Amino acid sequence: MIIAKTSKDLDRMREVGELIAEVRETLRLMVKPGISTLELNTTAEKMMRDAGAIPTFVGYKPTGMTPFPFAICASVNEQVVHGFSNASPLKSGDIISLDMAATLNGFVGDTATTVAVGEIADEIKHLIEVTEQCLVKGIAQCFPNRRVGDIGWAVQEHAEKFGYGIVRNYTGHGIGRSLHESPQIPNYGRPGTKEKIRAGYVFAIEPMLNLGTYETKTLKDKWTVVTSDGKPSAHCEHTVAITAVGPEILTLTKKQKAALSKPKMELAAA
Ligand code: MG
Repeated sequence: MIIAKTSKDLDRMREVGELIAEVRETLRLMVKPGISTLELNTTAEKMMRDAGAIPTFVGYKPTGMTPFPFAICASVNEQVVHGFSNASPLKSGDIISLDMAATLNGFVGDTATTVAVGEIADEIKHLIEVTEQCLVKGIAQCFPNRRVGDIGWAVQEHAEKFGYGIVRNYTGHGIGRSLHESPQIPNYGRPGTKEKIRAGYVFAIEPMLNLGTYETKTLKDKWTVVTSDGKPSAHCEHTVAITAVGPEILTLTKKQKAALSKPKMELAAA
């Protein structure tokens, strides 16, 4: 069952969304050659706890898995998702995907971004840009009466124009009091299929694009997912509420919301 949120629930989800967005943007600014993913993890966990929130990923344990040990998933280069933080310094030319979630007042916000470390190759820069464009295209489908398959189709259609592999084994998801709620939101699909989207639903939309094959495998730690061909992978994610008039991105910082509000007003007047 897909849980529709009340307006009070949405207020709480806005609050946690803004918090986790502030964490994401803080980490983005910290990424540079020489910093370790462990340092990024420590900062993220401190920001969440200082705000009275719980780092949702710490101890997260799907059936049959060991508990996830970190506040963020830090996935470098060919790592797709669920990478472990460690003390080795990032190098110029690496890319780092940072996925994070916080729980505040009983609700979860989930967001991810891929950041270049120093100077990266143009083909990897392009992969990240297209991943971000896919996220925007997926979010643009989040209107009442459209379908979950429309989101996957929008992402897939754009990614495949450039020949990128779309990860199949991991998907976006409903989100609310739990990190993972119904429905699953694949990054591929056909328009007009799957669940009908309704106002009050909140979705975590998260395209994962690979430079090469879409196939992935999991490392011995049972968590870290890597591309099967060892080529780089990018990932970005927003938590998005579906309102009567369309999508509202919950995982934006105060500053990002302020920058958005002006063009939105102009759009409404047009
Ligand atoms: Mg997610």
